[in-house]
Amino acid sequence: MRIVLLGAPGSGKGTQAALLKDHFSIPHISTGALLREAVADATPLGLQAKELLDRGELVPDDVMVNLIRERLGQDDVRDGFILDGYPRTLAQAEALDTLLTELGQPVEEAVLIEVDGNQVVERIAKRAAEEGRSDDTEDVVRKRLQIYEEQTAPVAGHYAELGLLTRVLGEGTIEEVLERIKGALLLGAAG
Ligand code: ADP
Repeated sequence: MRIVLLGAPGSGKGTQAALLKDHFSIPHISTGALLREAVADATPLGLQAKELLDRGELVPDDVMVNLIRERLGQDDVRDGFILDGYPRTLAQAEALDTLLTELGQPVEEAVLIEVDGNQVVERIAKRAAEEGRSDDTEDVVRKRLQIYEEQTAPVAGHYAELGLLTRVLGEGTIEEVLERIKGALLLGAAG
């Protein structure tokens, strides 16, 4: 199963992707996690990305396309994958289509997790207290939400045009949201 998970910062994408990974036994590919790892290891990519991450801005598309190409070239994605945090722009979505067509493994389903804006801010404040992520401060969160609306929300339209998009309500317990996503994926697979 080849899945793209979409949703605003704080929508619960990362949490749900980790659960889906266990459920379907396919890798969870989080570009945010890959970037934070690169920053922690001070690799050339990490050094380039650090300031952008801390400001809540996007890493340039060409850099991200290279990163995802490399990750999707690894052996463990043969049976599928869950993408979390990629694509974040229309250009990234188009580059992904091209790449996966080349690999003969197109995206099968895109799931958009929808959560009310106020809840998103509340959830991120909670995560900031728990995890201390450097991009979870109030100003940076506002910036990330703005960028999401401007650049990432249109990506859902891209998958809708391809007939691959399902919208799922991201409110309620983690388990409830997971069940909704699994249901949406099953329906999508049947149709
Ligand atoms: P969230 O969804 O909560 O904002 P992520 O962990 O997905 O968190 O991403 C954190 C940061 O990593 C983003 O704000 C951005 O700076 C960078 N990033 C992650 N994925 C991408 C991407 N596909 N393109 C550009 N920047 C990205």
